[in-house]
Amino acid sequence: MKYTSTRNNRLHISSAEAITKGISEDGGLFVPETLPKINLEFIDKLCALDYQARAVEILSLFLTDFSREELVEYTKGAYGSGKFSSEKTCPVVSVGDGLNILELWKGPTCAFKDMALQILPYLLTASAKKIDNDKQIVILVATSGDTGKAALEGFKDVEGTNILVFFPSDGVSPMQKLQMTTQEGENVGVCAIKGNFDDAQNGVKAIFTDTEIKKTLDENGYAFSSANSINWGRLVPQIVYYFSAYCDSVNAGEIKMGDKMNFVVPTGNFGNILAAYFAYRCGLPVNKLICASNANNVLTDFIETGVYDRNRSFFTTCSPSMDILISSNLERLLFMLCDYDDAPIKDWFTKLKDSGKYEITGDVLAKMQTVFASGCCDDEETKATIKKYFENKNYLADTHTAVALKVYDDYREKTGDNTPTVIASTASPFKFCKAVLEAVKNGNIEADNEFDMLKELERVTGNVAPKQLSELKGKTPRFTDVVEKNEMTDMVFGQLNIK
Ligand SMILES: *Cc1c(COP(=O)(O)O)cnc(C)c1O
Repeated sequence: MKYTSTRNNRLHISSAEAITKGISEDGGLFVPETLPKINLEFIDKLCALDYQARAVEILSLFLTDFSREELVEYTKGAYGSGKFSSEKTCPVVSVGDGLNILELWKGPTCAFKDMALQILPYLLTASAKKIDNDKQIVILVATSGDTGKAALEGFKDVEGTNILVFFPSDGVSPMQKLQMTTQEGENVGVCAIKGNFDDAQNGVKAIFTDTEIKKTLDENGYAFSSANSINWGRLVPQIVYYFSAYCDSVNAGEIKMGDKMNFVVPTGNFGNILAAYFAYRCGLPVNKLICASNANNVLTDFIETGVYDRNRSFFTTCSPSMDILISSNLERLLFMLCDYDDAPIKDWFTKLKDSGKYEITGDVLAKMQTVFASGCCDDEETKATIKKYFENKNYLADTHTAVALKVYDDYREKTGDNTPTVIASTASPFKFCKAVLEAVKNGNIEADNEFDMLKELERVTGNVAPKQLSELKGKTPRFTDVVEKNEMTDMVFGQLNIK
């Protein structure tokens, strides 16, 4: 299987090259040229397998320049040997009434990004070798929280790699900050910068594209690579769990083989829900993919009207991983909806860059709406939903998952669609103790620091916090640097011992 670019459909490259490069030189994203056909017989076979084996089957359809042995090794390294606290890796929990919750946060950092970032280092280092790139890989990450920690855990002590994470000093939760600054591993670095997430992101982009820095790295045997969600190596592992959730629903008797399901995905950069779309296009029986947003509802409007307009206020919400106004992976969806025509994509994304706004054509909008639905909710509704599901269903959801639950409840009421449904649950509720506690206790929190809140949430709900989070208490941070934006390059050189 070859890959092409959303902004140059004459390009044909291997998956190894797509994964090593991350983004195409023309500014586009890599997309497989053809999609594997997955029929019910194939899905039926998956039902009998465990998660690792399901992953090997699905990944081998997309990563045809990797051997089966390689994929067996990588999936074992990523999902085997106790890395995930659930034997099923990502279990499906039924809360009744056709509603099933796919818990994607049983990994080392308690957020769904582990599903991809645990396997990405294997794919990335192997890809670089396949295309004869013998340089040490340097991963730079700007993070608003979850990605940084998940990338650090994925790349720690992976031979041939170095990782440096920048986070805004006041822009992450205390728990997220402690998760990162206590990170172990010989090849890792973590650094706070004075500024907000955009400053961190712009700083990293500037370093990535600086030809002088690139040359210096090259001379010292290093090359930059990226672990962000536009890398195909992060997207492809996510396709697996939609098939897996479907199989688990069949096995649990929630549906019969061949029945359609809805999938509701709390969305930020559009990576997770795009993986669901790939699963659908390959043959997973899907009725609707429901895109759930918080108060930053660019995507809700876009899916309803076909107008993408980022010129609007930015809200900081209690579901911070979805606080985003430009959802990069949408470009891949539109390219596929345009039957791989790169001309409209170039047009729309130039408009987005220049004016922050574009409008897709009516036929593309109609195509999108045959499978996508959308909805949004604000923080108050998010918290009310956490309380409702906890009290009525004894299910404790985090803030991101609660956005999806609320959007689903609204959708079901509006449409009367009773198709069995899977909600993608993207984080442990204990990662967002304060908001979750506020929700279940109507704002009357006793504790005044993160760890007392964690204890209080355990007490009030009877749930046990993941030990990766409770054990952070009392750990001493290894990384305490706080630097100015213009000192970021020095940090990179410092970590790599380049004078
Ligand atoms: C990253 C993240 C999301 C958004 O996922 P996208 O793939 O960017 O749409 C949702 N919830 C949580 C908890 C996340 O960390």
